[in-house]
Amino acid sequence: MGLFSKEACVFCGKEVGMMHRSKMAGGDYICTECKYLAHPFIRIDKVNQEQAKAIMDEVANSEARFQTVNWDKVVRHSLGKNYVFYYSMETGEFAFHTPETEKYKNHAIYYMSMVRPYDKNLEWSMNQGNATRLPAFSKQQYADMITLKEQKDTDGKITGWKLYIPYFREHMDITIAFPGNTKESEVRGFHEQIINIIGGYNSAHMVNPTERAQMQQTNAMQTASEMLKAAIKGEGAESIVEKMQEGINTANEIDAGNVKRGLFGRLKKK
Ligand SMILES: [Zn+2]
Repeated sequence: MGLFSKEACVFCGKEVGMMHRSKMAGGDYICTECKYLAHPFIRIDKVNQEQAKAIMDEVANSEARFQTVNWDKVVRHSLGKNYVFYYSMETGEFAFHTPETEKYKNHAIYYMSMVRPYDKNLEWSMNQGNATRLPAFSKQQYADMITLKEQKDTDGKITGWKLYIPYFREHMDITIAFPGNTKESEVRGFHEQIINIIGGYNSAHMVNPTERAQMQQTNAMQTASEMLKAAIKGEGAESIVEKMQEGINTANEIDAGNVKRGLFGRLKKK
């Protein structure tokens, strides 16, 4: 069980040394190959086996969707390596292809409605259930929030850049790294094009049908889990039926367009 011993990957069973595995929350190990079936921007060390499996299923679905979406805005930056940003004006979905995400088997898809809202103080405070607490970024524009930062060494020499998009999801940061030998004008150009495209997004945008379907899935899973918890706790049939009724009500609200994703992707009534 030491540092140099081999450990079995909890997904494929392969015995791997420390250079080829990551430890997940809960102590299980995942091998590098299986890690690349998960999500490029969700920290695998912060999720447990069950959550990692759910993420793998989700990105497999994302890949299928990635192949069919009409990506009407595509920004390509090619300087030795390929950086591509995909955006659908119709649905507000976006995706990335970078040297880092390229290692992953499936493309993850992101939603504009889950990029932290700008200039929407009221919406934020309602999400928090606290009208007096407003974080600084709620007043910012997308252009200020989607940042490009230089990475420098102690001598002040540029060692690379990081492009960051704030996103409402647990254990996740959309951070695109560019190595120091990338041409600065190209990196800045890529960043500006993304801001121009995303800046045109109206955050009052309707919830798109795919996102609605995914919210229904989340609701179904949550409802089943609530019912199971009630059953395990020995709560009576009435309580279990009540949980089911709550789930049905939420499903109807999602269909009516009255539900959106809040902090960490949780379902929130509008
Ligand atoms: Zn494995």
